[in-house]
Amino acid sequence: MEGDSSNRIIPSHSKGLLQTPELYQYVLDTTVFPREPQPLKELRDLTANHPRAMMATAPDAGQLVALLLKLTGAKKTIELGVFTGYSLLLTALSIPRDGKITAIDTNREFYEIGLPVIQKAGIGHKIEFIESEALHVLDELLKKEANEGSYDFAYVDADKLNYWNYHERLMKLVKVGGIIAYDNTLWGGSVAADPATLGHKGGAVTQSTIQFNKSIATDPRVDISLAPLGDGITVCRRIY
Ligand code: SAH
Ligand code: CA
Repeated sequence: MEGDSSNRIIPSHSKGLLQTPELYQYVLDTTVFPREPQPLKELRDLTANHPRAMMATAPDAGQLVALLLKLTGAKKTIELGVFTGYSLLLTALSIPRDGKITAIDTNREFYEIGLPVIQKAGIGHKIEFIESEALHVLDELLKKEANEGSYDFAYVDADKLNYWNYHERLMKLVKVGGIIAYDNTLWGGSVAADPATLGHKGGAVTQSTIQFNKSIATDPRVDISLAPLGDGITVCRRIY
């Protein structure tokens, strides 16, 4: 199937996790792009030429997030790492009219790039954007007992070095039976690469992602699945 030209993969979408780039393109063309809501496509196009466009949530991983939100009927969610708002917009489109998203990013300018599309889609009222370090906001939220167990869903896509710190806090903020999704947990495949081939980039994020994957795999508090979509997305369900 021929996708239209704006649906051509920006190479940065592909983290090379599937056998070939053509196979990844096939998944997008057959299964993801034809069903992508129009505002999301608009936001993706708007972001495509941004120098940091590769940071945006991959559309195939986003499709799983949208499905999880609908499956669980999530209403109150929290997002760490907004960038121009692809995952934020898809969350807003997937939760009910009276749903609420707390969206946190250290950079408001990124958020403001996508804001007109978000507002045009008529879901802006669901979003509270907080410009801050994510860890700081989580700690502030935890000062109020009423926030404990109050979130149905969390999407984690901010600085990778803090994933385990986010996890410890989200395990208190997300309700039992709630979902936490961690993006980029295969980090371009580097987690399984020969350390000798990683060069100077073999550093901090790869090491911390390897450690995170190990820790989450042995965490008895969660059910997990590491879905090799996008750049790898680990879905957790809080058991207790
Ligand atoms: N989910 C986004 C992509 C996020 S990219 C999407 O779908 O497009 C990662 C984002 O995390 C960047 O926008 C960056 O500004 C933000 N970030 C980096 N460190 C952070 C921190 N410590 N706290 C909060 N946000 C952070
Ligand atoms: Ca990401």
